[in-house]
Amino acid sequence: MLPEPPAATVLYASLDLPEEEASQFDAAMRELPDWLRREPIGAPVSVAPMPTAWLDAVSDILAQAPDIPEAVADLTGLVMEEGRRIPCMVLGCTPDHEFARKARHQFPDGLWGVACDRFTLCYFCENPYSVWHETLHTLGAEDCYDLETKRTTCECAGCLMQYAAAEDTIGDWPWLCRANQERIRSYAKKCAAANKKGEAPGG
Ligand SMILES: [Zn+2]
Ligand SMILES: [Zn+2]
Repeated sequence: MLPEPPAATVLYASLDLPEEEASQFDAAMRELPDWLRREPIGAPVSVAPMPTAWLDAVSDILAQAPDIPEAVADLTGLVMEEGRRIPCMVLGCTPDHEFARKARHQFPDGLWGVACDRFTLCYFCENPYSVWHETLHTLGAEDCYDLETKRTTCECAGCLMQYAAAEDTIGDWPWLCRANQERIRSYAKKCAAANKKGEAPGG
């Protein structure tokens, strides 16, 4: 049985990252809730290292599944069978890791990572903006760029959900457009309500 984390919790782990990148990834993950709890978002999101039991289960599934969506479906099935809530999961690895290679083969446009439902694999872990962009997908945020032109499509010029988010393109706080602020807030609210009722909404 996998121990259940409280929602909205983001569980993260690094997969064979070199030491420096692993510590950059860790620092980015630890910093993120401080931003999300801040006004105007005010979403009580927590971040915690992924327990070993989860990491083992997730790694087994990723190794066996033919692709990431399939792996996420298997993982969801495993958790739902036990009547649990799906936590947000963020794994960091290098672009050469076998899981990243699998993901990049299927999604060649995903240069920095791939997000699917509550799961994301980041493979540009030295850039906190890239790690945060991928992580926010698990909390409901959506991309704010045109797939063809890569131009930012929301009203927030410095939005984190733009293409290739980096220090020189992200503006001052709040560096998220109103639509994504609302998506994250409403996901956190849904989790808080489910926690109160002791229900497992599964999403
Ligand atoms: Zn994205
Ligand atoms: Zn945006």
